Amino acid sequence: MEVKTFGVIGAGQMGNGIAQVAAMSGLQVIMNDIKEEFVQCGLQTITKKLSYNVGRGKMSAEEQDAVLGRITTSVDLKDMAKADFVLEAATENGPIKFDIFRNLDNISPKHAILATNTSSIPIGRIAAQTKRPGQVIGMHFMNPVPVMKLVEVIRGITTSDETFHLTWDLAKRFGKIPAESNDYPGFISNRILMPMINEAVYCLYHGVGTREDIDNVMKLGMNHPMGPLALADLIGLDTCLAIMGTLYEGFSDSKYRPCPLLRKYVDAGFLGRKAGRGFYEYAQGGAS
Ligand code: NAD
Repeated sequence: MEVKTFGVIGAGQMGNGIAQVAAMSGLQVIMNDIKEEFVQCGLQTITKKLSYNVGRGKMSAEEQDAVLGRITTSVDLKDMAKADFVLEAATENGPIKFDIFRNLDNISPKHAILATNTSSIPIGRIAAQTKRPGQVIGMHFMNPVPVMKLVEVIRGITTSDETFHLTWDLAKRFGKIPAESNDYPGFISNRILMPMINEAVYCLYHGVGTREDIDNVMKLGMNHPMGPLALADLIGLDTCLAIMGTLYEGFSDSKYRPCPLLRKYVDAGFLGRKAGRGFYEYAQGGAS
């Protein structure tokens, strides 16, 4: 099967980045969200990033126009009837994703592959919402999508080899390096990363160090490019909490219990960069 039209569900920080790299690879892209303002906001982000590339001489203005010309926006899931491959990048919430997959299964052409960018929700559970479990797979991009090289490709228990190889090749077409993971909570990336971030939040909660000192220890002492608290702000604290919840539930193991401080921040709406406040305060997307 040849993928010509690529659908993206969710135009948030991951969805618009995925739409950008798909359009840059020459595919026609349909970017969907629940409200017009959300898709327009996603499109603005893409335009800003492409203009930055043009300004730095990495792309011509004609190329920018061609990439933007390949992206159409949608607030109606039925538009996915035109897509050969749909990547769901909606909020990290099981019921929301299950609902999207049940609807997509009815809307998408028979040959279409339905992939999810979920950070932690079992692919098998998502696939079970559809009548095409062999064509459901995890395609997990990293943030920020246009910059980060890795795509984790996650086989569910029912994912067919054909679906796996097509997704693997698509990741390469997008200029990424794929890594294969089996379907266990958090896959490889968040099984390792998220408990580390959660432990950093516990350090703050227990007063072991300030936010700056915790981040500096990991940056300067462990050579991480970002401290774990700044990284949590970039990912989104709601997403971090949801992933810890999936690890905790999936393994029934108390070592994955989310730190109460993480929950407190999410309850207060301190969701990280996207909300202007998380462990740090942000003005227009930059650290204050
Ligand atoms: P986000 O909050 O920035 O965006 C989520 C978008 O989904 C919002 O625009 C929201 O309106 C939209 N949405 C919600 N319900 C929808 C529906 N029914 N139909 C269409 N759109 C809907 O979140 P994000 O950071 O972009 O995360 C999206 C997904 O990517 C999550 O599954 C997350 O776990 C995963 N992910 C996130 C990161 C990260 O660093 N943030 C990294 C890898 C994977």
